[in-house]
Order: sequence, then C-alpha cells, then structure tokens
Amino acid sequence: MPLIQESPESYDVCIVGSGAGGSMAAKVLAEAGANVVVLEAGPEWSVQDDGAMFDWNYSSPRRGASTTDRPFGEFDACLGGWDIDGEPYTTTEDTEWEWFRARMLGGRTHHWGRISLRFGPDDFNGKSVDGHGDDWPIDYEDLKPYYDRVDRMIGLFGSEENFYNAPDGIFMDPPEPRCYERVLKQGAEDINIPVIPSRLSILTEQHNGRAACHYCAQCNRGCTTHSNFSAPVLLNPALETGNVTLITNAMVREVTTDKEGQATGVSYVDTQSRREQKVESDVVVLAASACESARLLLNSTSPRHPNGLANSSDAVGRYLMDSTGTTVAGVIPELLNQPAHNCDGVGGMHMYVPWWGYDQNLDFPRGYHFELWGGRGMPGYGFGSGIQNLNGLFPGDEETKKKGGGGYGQQLKKDYRRFYGAMVGMSGRGESIAHRDNYCEIDPNTTDEYGIPVLRFNHSWREEEYLQVKHMQEKGREIIDAAGGEPLGTMPDREDGYGITTPGEIIHETGVTRMGTDPDESVLNEYCQAHDVDNLFVADGGPFVSQPHKNPTWTIMALSMRTAEYIVDQREKGNL
Ligand SMILES: Cc1cc2nc3c(=O)[nH]c(=O)nc-3n(C[C@H](O)[C@H](O)[C@H](O)COP(=O)(O)OP(=O)(O)OC[C@H]3O[C@@H](n4cnc5c(N)ncnc54)[C@H](O)[C@@H]3O)c2cc1C
Ligand code: SF4
Repeated sequence: MPLIQESPESYDVCIVGSGAGGSMAAKVLAEAGANVVVLEAGPEWSVQDDGAMFDWNYSSPRRGASTTDRPFGEFDACLGGWDIDGEPYTTTEDTEWEWFRARMLGGRTHHWGRISLRFGPDDFNGKSVDGHGDDWPIDYEDLKPYYDRVDRMIGLFGSEENFYNAPDGIFMDPPEPRCYERVLKQGAEDINIPVIPSRLSILTEQHNGRAACHYCAQCNRGCTTHSNFSAPVLLNPALETGNVTLITNAMVREVTTDKEGQATGVSYVDTQSRREQKVESDVVVLAASACESARLLLNSTSPRHPNGLANSSDAVGRYLMDSTGTTVAGVIPELLNQPAHNCDGVGGMHMYVPWWGYDQNLDFPRGYHFELWGGRGMPGYGFGSGIQNLNGLFPGDEETKKKGGGGYGQQLKKDYRRFYGAMVGMSGRGESIAHRDNYCEIDPNTTDEYGIPVLRFNHSWREEEYLQVKHMQEKGREIIDAAGGEPLGTMPDREDGYGITTPGEIIHETGVTRMGTDPDESVLNEYCQAHDVDNLFVADGGPFVSQPHKNPTWTIMALSMRTAEYIVDQREKGNL
C-alpha cells in the first residue's frame, strides 16, 4: 500500500480513521466513484510484513510477554493500548475509566475477537420494551439488509438457531466444539441454559478470493491469509479503485468549518514532521472510534459552533457506554491429565451462551452473554494462570490433596501437565443503560504531545449493573458446577462490585454522538448525519443509542455501510 499518494486540491470525502467503521466507509464510497482521502493517526501496518502468526513465544527473549504498546502480548497485532506515550486522558475524581486505543492502519481490527453479533429487534426499541434508556430512530428491519450485505461481503460462521432477539445471519458452517466446550455445554444445558456455536467473522470456507482458515488459532496476531476480518479486507479493494488517497501518521486535530458552519475538511498534525496540515473535502466522515470522534467535535469550536461542532444539543460526549463484564473461572477434574491433543481451531471460542433470560423476572434490566474460554492453546508468558495456586486444591493421583514442590521442580512440571487444559472460564458481557451524566468532555488543563486537548471521563456503574454482574457470577458458577467442575475463588460480594470490570475495560465504548429524531436531544439523524452540519457524518460506535450486550463491531460496519450509501445517494441528488 502506498504511504502517501499525490493529493489533489480537494476531495469529495475525507474519512478520519481506518478501523472497522472507516474502512467500510472507504470501500463503499471509493467503489461508488468518490474521490476519498483517509487520514490515519498511526503508521502503516501490514499483516504480511508485520504480523507474527507463525512465531513461537519461545523465539522471543521476552517469551511473548506484554508491553505497554502491546498489552495483549508482544506478538499481538495492535499498536496502541490502554496507555499511549504522549497521549494521556484524564478522569474526574470518582471515575475509573480504561480507554483502549489503536494507533495503526486498520485500527483495532487486526486483533479484535471477531465476535460478530447482530443486534436484535428489542435492542433498537429498549425504552418501548422496558422503559429504560431510549429507542433508536431505526429498527432491526432498517438495518437487516445492511447486516445481510456485511455478512456476504466479509463472511462469518455461525448456526441458524431462530433465537429470540439474537437474529441469525448468513453463516458458513461453524468449527466443531472443542473438548472443554462440549463439557460446559452439557453442564449448561442440564440447567436449561443454551450453548450455541459462536458467530465469528472467520472463514471456514473460501470466500471472495480469501482462503479458508487453517486453524492456527493465532487470530489476534494478524492473519496473513486474510481468513479472518481485519480492515485490509475492505481497505485493499478500496485502494485498488484508485480513488483513495491514504495518509498515515496524520493525527487529526479538528474539523474545519466555513462562515455558514459547514465542514470544509480537517486539520491534522503530521506526527513525523510535527507540521500542521490541512485537507479540504465536500464531506467529512469521522470514524476515529467513538470517543476520539467526540473529542474531535468538541475540539472543533468556532463562532458558529462555540460549544463544539454539531453540539447544539450538548449531547456530544454524553451517554457514554461500555458493556458490563466479569469473569468466572473453574477447573474441570474430568479434564485433568488429558493425553496431548490439538483442538486449536479458529482463534477464539467455538461456542458461546446467548442471553436466555428474556421471560424471567429479574432485578436488573436487559441481559448478557457468556464468552467461553479454556483448552490447550499455545501457552503464553507467565505461570499458567497461577497454576501454583491450584496445587493442593484437587485430589492427586493417590486421591489425596496434592502437596509438595510448592511451585518448583518436578512437582511443578507434573502440575503443569496435569492441569493443562482443565481450566475453563466464562466471561460475561452485559448491557448497561445509557445515562446522560456518563460522559467524556475536554479537559481544560491537559493536552497531548501534539498540543491537542485531551478527554476527561466521568462515569459510574449503577446498582442495576452491579445486580446484573451478580447474576453473571451466580450463573457462571452454576454452569461450572453443573459441568462437574469447581469454580475458583469465592463469589465476590457487593463491596467488590460482584467482580464488575472497570468501565471501558470491555472495549465496547459507544454512544457519545448518539443518533435520534430530536436535534435538541441527539447529535446525529438516523443516517449518522449531524443535525447541525449536513456534510458531517460519524461512522463508528458513537451513533449508538444503546449498547446491547452484543459486541458492537458488526453494527458499526452495518451502520457505516448505510451511511456511506446515503452519502452517495445524497451526492447524486445534489444535496451534499
Ligand atoms: C482486544 C479486543 C477485542 C475485541 N473484540 C471484539 C469482538 O470480539 N467483537 C466486537 O464486536 N468488538 C470487539 N472489540 C472492539 C472493536 O475492536 C471495536 O468495536 C472496533 O474496532 C471499533 O471500530 P472503530 O472503527 O470505531 O475504531 P478502531 O477500529 O479503533 O479504528 C479507529 C482508527 O482511528 C484512528 N484515529 C483515532 N484518532 C484519530 C485522529 N485524531 N486522527 C486520525 N486517526 C485517528 C486510530 O488510530 C484507529 O486506527 C475488541 C477490541 C479489542 C481491543
Ligand atoms: S486461526 Fe484461521 S483466521 Fe485465525 S489467524 Fe489462523 S488461519 Fe487466520
């Protein structure tokens, strides 16, 4: 891919960010013939040259251990993380917020989990269903054709289940469940909790010129065969049209506007030369990830937009959401001392637990799903999930509680062999309700290394979210128990928030440029077009009115496709 192409004076469309949302918008617009510029804050990154799909952990002096730059492991295909040198963010006094950011071509799509779930009919109409939050200005039927086309364009596996509020997609066959997944499935089904094949955007058959997955299980390192979804699947065809100019290392500072308050393009800092640059365009699409796009709007002040661009509603930055989460782990004695076997499969779970509690009388709104993990994958850096703590918890070969070794020598080696593959876990991912006073705003006192004011986060979980997580802990433990296993650790209590994750930690931040019909209450209309500035659009998770427990990216891409096609249509009609 060319790093910088000759740029014309002005573009039809300027897209900020090259991740899930930006790459979809670039493909649709470029293939429709628009002259597009894509600005990406990070450097170029290619799976072929920079990925490490086939590297062994032991081939590195660090044994693949994580770094600040690579918090999910040295070989993880993401530059960025919770902490980025020179790019701080702040929080209000009582807030804990974790903000994971990618800084690379393709954004977070090179290493995401590829859990690709559609939102269901109830997810767009939450307020009408139970009175909480707000309804979206669109419903499932509006987005269904786009979900269908994203499925066909990119490809994913799954199974047809006809599950209420978990719509089926256009699926390839899923991989077989792994050994531990079968055991958990049996346990869960014994207590009437369903376990079904996952829905992941990984190819189990050849598709649109891309190879089927060869089951190396290293998806988060970047897939050199493009058998899973990452942004190049969309960016490469976009570039092949010849209609896309790509500018990497371009940290966009603000959206520029004219006297009428319309967008005229963006200004950015070239992070290599530190020089300020400008790009002009008829239309601007922000796809920098939800909170970064909100930051850009809030930093784009002008006499026409003193409160930030597209912010007459004062809703930019508000209704900040992340999924709730907690994890339950356990050991299944039946899986102890298994003979060596390979059940790697695709990188990610083969089975998951969709939300099953719609008709139950619960003390919290909405629901959650469980993501399953375990198995005999390549061991990572560290001590085998604290294996030294398991010694003594389970009867040994002689039916006595094992002791000795204490984490050293022969005994430790035996323990590794014995416990390897017997540890399982379930990570709950739940819906939290959008609240106006969960927000990000510009910190008046802090700038990043480019002199751009940074975000300050204000967020709190409500009692309903703690109760939801309590339910996750209880049900997760019941499932492990029913599978013949022993949950590890004691059930966390209210003082420990029932084990709820820090907000932001699930990396599903959405909602900060919400869509709606009322310009006094929302930032965007149903096409993700700013109410205040009709040549400005947002194509990331910012437009979400709610963040159902389903992972957000498939919806980000369906919405981005719909927005990009709307732009094409409006240009053809002479409205933009
Ligand atoms: C470990 C992990 C696992 C995940 N698993 C899943 C999953 O299984 N399923 C799921 O649905 N979601 C998952 N997610 C979330 C998913 O990655 C995001 O929802 C998705 O990538 C968001 O797309 P985006 O286009 O909004 O942002 P990104 O993909 O993050 O792309 C934004 C891009 O904009 C660039 N940018 C930011 N600011 C600027 C600026 N000022 N100027 C220019 N460029 C800028 C960034 O460098 C980045 O490349 C996961 C995330 C992580 C980190
Ligand atoms: S498991 Fe499949 S999709 Fe994932 S990196 Fe390996 S080949 Fe690619």
